[in-house]
Amino acid sequence: MIELNDLYAVLKARFGFLNWWPADSKEEVITGAILTQQTSWKNVEKAISNLKSARVISVEKLANINLKKLEKLVKPSGFYKQKAKRIKNFMRYVNQNYGTLENLFNKNPVELREELLKLHGVGKETADSIILYAAEKPVFVVDAYTKRIIERVYGLKMEYTELQNFIQSNTKKNTAFYKDFHAQFVELGKNYCKTKPLCDDCPLNVFCKFYSNLKKTITPQNSRQKDEGARLDF
Ligand code: SF4
Repeated sequence: MIELNDLYAVLKARFGFLNWWPADSKEEVITGAILTQQTSWKNVEKAISNLKSARVISVEKLANINLKKLEKLVKPSGFYKQKAKRIKNFMRYVNQNYGTLENLFNKNPVELREELLKLHGVGKETADSIILYAAEKPVFVVDAYTKRIIERVYGLKMEYTELQNFIQSNTKKNTAFYKDFHAQFVELGKNYCKTKPLCDDCPLNVFCKFYSNLKKTITPQNSRQKDEGARLDF
């Protein structure tokens, strides 16, 4: 079984350093973390572009923006009414209670996480994305790609907190490392470990339980059958 630090090294050797999160400010990270709920990043990019063109990405402006106007700007991200409300509520909370994000982010990661999780529409993944990428504190962000890859490579099916503990207790606690490791999982999940995985070209295939089990089930007869997903060439 490959160790997590080695798994990261294999991914980094394939994809290089990924320099995440793609944003110009902490406010943009938070907005993106809310907008990306239940949608792809492509749709988020359109909404962020609208917000940038309207020059409204700041705590004060988003706290005071007209809700209908915000809904229109974030519409490309889907669930736009819900997300507009969440963004406005988040920024209004910061504006009224802390004035600036820096004041909120002065808290230690445990207190900060507890506080963020109390806000409407902020779940574990959103809170951890904000803590890691906006507050720049070391907490690992678990997403659907991470869950899928760990389940396939190690044969371990875990819920959010269990998986987060598994990764954090088996790797170095470091903000830059957690950022890039999360980005590597996303890159692998988007390009290889999809719903129908492209195992033959995946950099993790020699370490992967799923792939090893798949190879055992392949017979000369069924190996000829067309499978666009988990391709195995013998
Ligand atoms: S070998 Fe296949 S199942 Fe395993 S991590 Fe790669 S793409 Fe996913």
